[in-house]
Amino acid sequence: MMEKAQLTLSSAKGLFQSYYKQLTVGDIVVSSLSKREFAFSYFDEGGMHRHISFEETGKLLNHLRASSPKHVYYSTAYYLYPSAKDMDAKGWEGADLVFDIDVDHIETDCKSAHDQWRCKTCNTSGWGNVKACPHCGGEAIEKRTWVCETCINVARDEVFKLVEMLEMDFGLSLHELFITFSGHRGFHIHVESPAVRVLNQDARRELIDYVKGLGIDIRVMLVKNKGGFKLRYGANSSGWYARISRWALFMLGAEDPVLNLRDWEKIFIGSMKKEAVAIDENVTIDTKRLIRLPNSLHGKTGLKAAPFTVNELEKGEFIEKVKVFSKEEIKISTGGELPKKVLDLEISSTSRTLPFYVALYLMLNGAPIKINV
Ligand SMILES: [Zn+2]
Ligand SMILES: [Zn+2]
Repeated sequence: MMEKAQLTLSSAKGLFQSYYKQLTVGDIVVSSLSKREFAFSYFDEGGMHRHISFEETGKLLNHLRASSPKHVYYSTAYYLYPSAKDMDAKGWEGADLVFDIDVDHIETDCKSAHDQWRCKTCNTSGWGNVKACPHCGGEAIEKRTWVCETCINVARDEVFKLVEMLEMDFGLSLHELFITFSGHRGFHIHVESPAVRVLNQDARRELIDYVKGLGIDIRVMLVKNKGGFKLRYGANSSGWYARISRWALFMLGAEDPVLNLRDWEKIFIGSMKKEAVAIDENVTIDTKRLIRLPNSLHGKTGLKAAPFTVNELEKGEFIEKVKVFSKEEIKISTGGELPKKVLDLEISSTSRTLPFYVALYLMLNGAPIKINV
């Protein structure tokens, strides 16, 4: 009898190819494309190919169709010579302001159902998130992380907080914000307005601190009153003043609360926890960052880095928009434990079939799985 064919990385490349073949120029949503640096990694070779540029969208599209890359990135920066190999010779002309929200940086309840760790020292392994090995105390920990709908909803709520801040506090309008799925565990929010392109790293650092609520002096928000302190500004003020005031009024249920400084501090910390946005600051501060191309496929998930409007995120139709490959149930065999929950699916240890797009994700991200096709 003939052996059943199994899905391998090279057949995954064929799947990516079928996706890129049907992509159109309208799916490439990069402004000033000829000023951007592009970078690719491929299924059949290691490393990253950088310092590549394209005169026009059609040429990038041809390259995607011809090479079916595993990962595609472009620079948030605009360059005079984007293909120059030496960063200093590229002629930096500015960079988009980009925020990265990734559940890697956020505590979620679902991680014990899907994230795995292995101690490189003693080989102990387990589920969830550990900083050090509970067996030997070793800190060399290898992680394999997964994404599920719970993760996405947590990341999405962070996007909403950020969008509100960018609109209300920074005066940006919704149409200036471009939100995409990162392809794995979160979202990217791009701002391309001319006013932000010229911001240097110090200015971006200020924005990061603001978004994270760092360095706000609570005393400027309070005035002395009857042996304590009351809020100087109300919930109708703006920015962090309004956020903290709203939180205080909500927690205390009083119209004009008077508290001592210590109690105000507690209120303040509570407000921070709730309102600060969990961004990865390394992305925002970097003015020469490479970031995933919108509508390209992520090589470790097979999911599309799809753009989203706030409205679409609110409706919660997530998986349908990022899922590229079929839902058809296919036979699998496993050589070890699978995560119990990924994407929109709970996986039981006795599962012998999975929807194809879930099985592909498991394989691409290194789960012990064989897929019979
Ligand atoms: Zn250990
Ligand atoms: Zn999750």
